[in-house]
Formats: sequence, C-alpha cells, structure tokens
Amino acid sequence: MKSTSSYHPQAPYVLGVDVGGTKLATVLATRTGQILHKVRLPTEADKGPQFGVARLISMLNRNMAETGVTPDEVIGIGVACGSPMDTARGIILGPPNLQSWNPVPIVARLEAEFGLYAQLENDANAGALAEWLFGAGKGMHNVVYMTMGTGIGGGLILDGRLYRGANGNAGEVGHMRVVLQGGPLCGCGKRGCLEAFCSGPSIARRTRKALRQSPNSAILERAGHVDQVTAEHLFAAARQGDALALHLVDETARYMGVGLANIIQVLNPEVIVLGTIATEQGGFFLDRVRRVVRAESWPQISEVVQILPSPLGEQVGDYGAISVILQNVAREADSDRPL
Ligand SMILES: [Zn+2]
Repeated sequence: MKSTSSYHPQAPYVLGVDVGGTKLATVLATRTGQILHKVRLPTEADKGPQFGVARLISMLNRNMAETGVTPDEVIGIGVACGSPMDTARGIILGPPNLQSWNPVPIVARLEAEFGLYAQLENDANAGALAEWLFGAGKGMHNVVYMTMGTGIGGGLILDGRLYRGANGNAGEVGHMRVVLQGGPLCGCGKRGCLEAFCSGPSIARRTRKALRQSPNSAILERAGHVDQVTAEHLFAAARQGDALALHLVDETARYMGVGLANIIQVLNPEVIVLGTIATEQGGFFLDRVRRVVRAESWPQISEVVQILPSPLGEQVGDYGAISVILQNVAREADSDRPL
C-alpha cells in the first residue's frame, strides 16, 4: 500500500465515510459488509471544511466507541465524495455541492488522526464497487454502474477491478454524445451528452418543452403548473396511459438504450446496474430500455448482459464508502484467479 499509516488487511472491521453536500455519514461494518453502526449528521457546508472534517473525525470516534472497536481492529477507512478530486493524493477539490472544500486533504487528515490507512474515491466509482461487492454485480467480473439522478454518473468494474483510466476520469458515461451534432447544453459545457437528455432535471426540461406545445396532458394535471413539472410527474402520467407522457418515456428509454448499447458493445459486461430514477421506475422503464439495447447491439453481447435496478438503493452511499477499502481485500482474495 502507498501509505505509511497502518493497513490491517486481516482485521475484522472497516470504516466508511460518505461526504455529501447536505449530509455526512460514517459507518462501521464487518469485513463481510454487515453494517453495525452508522452516524449521520448535516454537513453544514456554510461552516467550512475545518468544521466538517472535525465533525467526521468525531463521528468515526463514535462509530468505534459505541461498538467497542479499536483502530487496530479496522482494516482502513474508505472515503467517498463527489468529483473533482485527486485520488492518488487523497484530496477533495471542491465538488459542485461542496465548493468550499477545496482543497481538503481528507486522507492525510484521517490517517494522522487514526493512524489507519485511508483511501478516497469518487462517489460513482464507490457506487460501482458497492454494487460489485454487495449488490447486483456480486460474483461477477465486469460490472457497469450508472446513476440516473441530478446527473448521470458511472463507474466500471472490468476484469474484477475498478477501472480508473489514464487520469481517473474513466466511467463518465453521462457525457458520451448521443446525437451527432447540437442537442441540449449539458452541465459539463458540451452539447448532446446522454446526461443532457436523461438526468432527472433533463427529463423534466424536455417534458416542460413538450408541454408548452401540447399542454393537454395528464402530466400538467399532476404538476399543477408547467414550471413545477418533474420526472416523477412524467412517469406517473405515463403509467396512467397519457399519450404525451408515454411518448416522452419512450424517448428517454431510447436515449438511455442507445447509450447502454454503445457501452456494452465496447465493454461486454455481465451486468449494468442502474440507480435512482431507473430503480424507482423498475420494469416500467427498464423493459423499454432493454428492448432498445437488444435492438441496437450485437446479440452475442446483449444476450449475456443483465440490465438491473440497484438493489442497494439509498444504501449505496454506505456500502460504497466501505467498498473503497474492501475492494483491496476482495482483490487480494481473488489474486490467484487465473487470467
Ligand atoms: Zn456532458
């Protein structure tokens, strides 16, 4: 391991830290992923990173004190947070919802405090690790994980390990282009990204635009006013058979399906795990996506891939944080697997 702090690969417990813009969570779990103790407190981002890091340290101390666990019984501390970050040096670099945390050398702070090895990973990669070790990708070697919330994030497990790419930006599946030119402006500054069509806010924006041309829809009855329309209103109206809503859901599934077909055509994974909107909408949405994927990719590739909702749901943050450490344990256990 790169750190001089103690890494205890045989220890029975692991600590996890999930740093978010509105909440902080720390968990203590067994090395097999049973979560024994959790502390959750608001981030209070306006009080700055000094306050936040001190709060995290006290939360981790509570995890151990209230379970009677000592640091020498802990493998290490996994930390998940939004990008941008420097994972090699363990530094948080002001993610969009936590801009004052720039820079925060979280790994150095935790290692100095607890004398334990710590490792930082972006939350989408942590989610992929969680689904691989504990969720829909358990026991598989090639897992694609995608969130479908405020943005479209992703992480890749390839040949039994997290794939980071040349400088840690692999798996940014939300920013593949799904139109040849033009398209709506994405949060990343480019046009026509998958995220600009299929994130929650993008679905809502496309729906509002359609409603301004065809206001006679059950979507509007549910939302009250066109400015209030969300992706949830769209899916609810589609489920009751509203024609415009069904058209927009089909269109969303079309963009997602083409995106997924491109991914599987390159990576040939065993499973794609979809979180947030896809988990909430289940088969109503996923069956449409599956049909597009089957039509747009080689049968030899589409017949082996499962497209599944995330079974971890809102717990993906807890499992993601501990998986940042437990991926090392899993890889060490798997190291005699023939290539
Ligand atoms: Zn983009």
